Amino acid sequence: MQKFYVVGTPIGNLEDVTHRAVRVLGEADIVLCEDTRVTAKLLARYGIAKPTMSYHSQSKLAKTEKILTLIEEGKTLALVSDAGTPAISDPGSMLVSKIRERFPNIEIIAIPGPSAVVSALSISGLPASEFLFLGFLPHKKGRETLFKEIAGSERTIVFYESPHRIMRTLASLAKYVPKKRVVIAREISKMYEETVAGTIAEIIAHFENHPEKARGEFVVMVGAK
Ligand code: SAM
Repeated sequence: MQKFYVVGTPIGNLEDVTHRAVRVLGEADIVLCEDTRVTAKLLARYGIAKPTMSYHSQSKLAKTEKILTLIEEGKTLALVSDAGTPAISDPGSMLVSKIRERFPNIEIIAIPGPSAVVSALSISGLPASEFLFLGFLPHKKGRETLFKEIAGSERTIVFYESPHRIMRTLASLAKYVPKKRVVIAREISKMYEETVAGTIAEIIAHFENHPEKARGEFVVMVGAK
């Protein structure tokens, strides 16, 4: 049966790719990439010479149709994002949904790999048997409501944050969850990997004392207490 692969790739360290992911990428006819230049580095590292095609959040319907035509022609496609697991705060879910709709007989296969949300939780020390993942917080509309939800939550809350907004987000947390335990995982698997845990006041003090550390990629986790 024809297959469509959704392949997890590293979130920093290029060694964090599975043997199976390397084999599947090597066997696919075309690798669909969020940014072909980013994925080219991973493919080069593992000696994979494959045609790539971009598929990202700005991709138009025509691109989706082109991909569906390739599937119709019998091509084996593998979807990756720039980092981690496709469709998790990344492009992919819309395409997978269209493939399911158009080709009910195609097998859509997950090739499990890293995801920043799971990696961060695993080192947080916060209860993680159940948690609420919020992806990226909205910039404006709904933001305050979400912070109120975080304040009232009895579950561990996890979300992604960009370096441009991290200090603003920490300031909001100081307003809404002054007492809860907060853990920030930054640059997981990269050279400046760091985890900071404590009250929000302690975390803000850490980044104010080391402004050079308020950079990179962040996962923010807020405990229930
Ligand atoms: N699909 C990805 C996944 O499975 O983790 C997430 C993609 S999302 C566009 C990118 C966000 O994930 C970053 O802004 C950051 O919040 C988080 N992230 C990705 N890599 C990370 C890393 N190495 N360390 C910490 N956070 C990371």
